[in-house]
Amino acid sequence: MHEISPNHPRYQSLILREKMAKAYQEGILADTALIAHGRGEAFDYILGEKTNPPAIEAIKTGISAMLLAENPIISVNGNTAVLSAEDIVDLARLIPAAIEINLFYRTPQRVEKIERLLKEAGAKKVLGKEGDDYVPIPGLEGPRSRAHPEGINRADVVLVPLEDGDRAQSLVASGKKVITIDLNPLSRTAQTASITIVDNVVRAMPLMIKELKKLKHCSRKQLTEIVNEYDNNKNISKTLDIIYHHFKQDVQS
Ligand code: ATP
Ligand code: MG
Repeated sequence: MHEISPNHPRYQSLILREKMAKAYQEGILADTALIAHGRGEAFDYILGEKTNPPAIEAIKTGISAMLLAENPIISVNGNTAVLSAEDIVDLARLIPAAIEINLFYRTPQRVEKIERLLKEAGAKKVLGKEGDDYVPIPGLEGPRSRAHPEGINRADVVLVPLEDGDRAQSLVASGKKVITIDLNPLSRTAQTASITIVDNVVRAMPLMIKELKKLKHCSRKQLTEIVNEYDNNKNISKTLDIIYHHFKQDVQS
């Protein structure tokens, strides 16, 4: 691995890229995870590599929904575990919410490595481990359809960063409130979710923890108002406007 100078204009992005490449070499990530990351990088670039106001609004609503939930859960895939293990564990502890491993390209080795990553970050309990019970998510097939009976299966609110579109659709269809973090506002996941945070997980997760510390003092009535006032389609449109203006300005200047 080569030295990246902190003065490099793409420093943060390159650091994340190296982290992902290393995790791939260690067998934590599938090769397709790197492709998904690259797609994320492209969207992050056109979003200005910063958290935009609609994302803040979605974060506030997502945290309110998690605080109101009876059985909230955080579904973790490889990319999220590699990029945000400590924040996932902190958020899960503070809500409190369960953590479940949920991999698209599931192998026993990868599941064990991701479990280890989460445990090293301080997770006490992780669901979706190798050998754990599971029930199928209706409408899906194969390893992608797994839901832990005490986890995603009975959850009412699911935070699923970087989810696949099919699975997001199935979770919504089974009556769950789905909160996603996805840099692509046009992905099926982003379009299907109940609350879409269009931001990089590495920026969104710390902001979620910060927001949680403020919102946990609110009454259920106040939290319910935040959730009820939120309109996900409008929020995504605001992000698309930001992207549109970003391109327009660049063309004019
Ligand atoms: P969908 O299945 O929802 O239609 P897709 O097939 O286009 O989406 P996937 O490969 O299934 O995309 O999932 C990767 C998604 O995760 C992409 O939308 C990508 O923009 C997003 N993504 C990648 N890295 C990050 C990141 N660090 N933070 C947030 N989102 C990310
Ligand atoms: Mg997909």
